[in-house]
Amino acid sequence: MVALEQKLQLAAQQKKLPKALIVVHFAGLSCDMQSIHKLTSTYNIVLIEDAAHALGGDYVGRKIGCCEYSDLTVLSFHPVKSITTAEGGAVLTNNSAYFTKLQLFAKHGVTRDPALMQGESDGPWYYQQVELGYNYRLSDLHAALGITQLQKLDQFVAKRRMLAARYKQQLADLPLTLPCEESYQDSAWHLYMVELNQHDRLAVYKHLHELGIGVNVHYIPIHLQPYYQALGFKAGDFPVAEHFYHHALTLPLFPSMTEEQQAQVISSLRQVLLERRA
Ligand SMILES: *Cc1c(COP(=O)(O)O)cnc(C)c1O
Repeated sequence: MVALEQKLQLAAQQKKLPKALIVVHFAGLSCDMQSIHKLTSTYNIVLIEDAAHALGGDYVGRKIGCCEYSDLTVLSFHPVKSITTAEGGAVLTNNSAYFTKLQLFAKHGVTRDPALMQGESDGPWYYQQVELGYNYRLSDLHAALGITQLQKLDQFVAKRRMLAARYKQQLADLPLTLPCEESYQDSAWHLYMVELNQHDRLAVYKHLHELGIGVNVHYIPIHLQPYYQALGFKAGDFPVAEHFYHHALTLPLFPSMTEEQQAQVISSLRQVLLERRA
């Protein structure tokens, strides 16, 4: 938060303020939107929430995506996310100007609304292209899947929260940093990530896979990718993200996970960490 404030202060001095700021609700846990919104309104920057991990999560008692402290929220319905439409996503906003713009943008910039047209209509068949738009429509088939998925969202999130609570309770005595949750946050638990403090992550990862536990690593910091390296970013630019990447391990967590499966993950992790105690 302090780092962001300093970055924006400097950018303002150099007259290089960004037009928009996109914040990611990492692993399903909301960012501190009230503080971030204060900053972006001071500098007149559009604030966008990337809630691809966070659909179903809460922030200060309201659902993530209500845009109380942002201009727009984007969601992904890729199969690994809270709910799926096979592919696709959605943009949420309370701002009618953005809403109109998004509708045009998703439909080739074409409108049948006389209020958005220039000049006179030729007749009942008339439409105008008023912007350069694309085809970002979700098909009816994908939408139908999304509607049935949406009905299951609360149940999926409740199960994820129950599994996360059990991890928190049963991993508390292990040499791990567990995910934190402030009182104003209620995560959707897209991912449950722990940090290893005293163990070699690669060795633990391999050992757990040998025991049949599908742990994973999220994410390779984007500035370490060749595309961004070519733009001038380098290792060391974002030390917090890099430290997290080098120590993080994602434990299995999915709504259909059984109590037995989770117990197996917990006992295997316990066994590996104890056997490999440095
Ligand atoms: C999945 C994901 C995206 C991309 O979603 P698409 O549906 O593939 O466009 C963006 N941001 C985050 C945080 C994600 O998890």
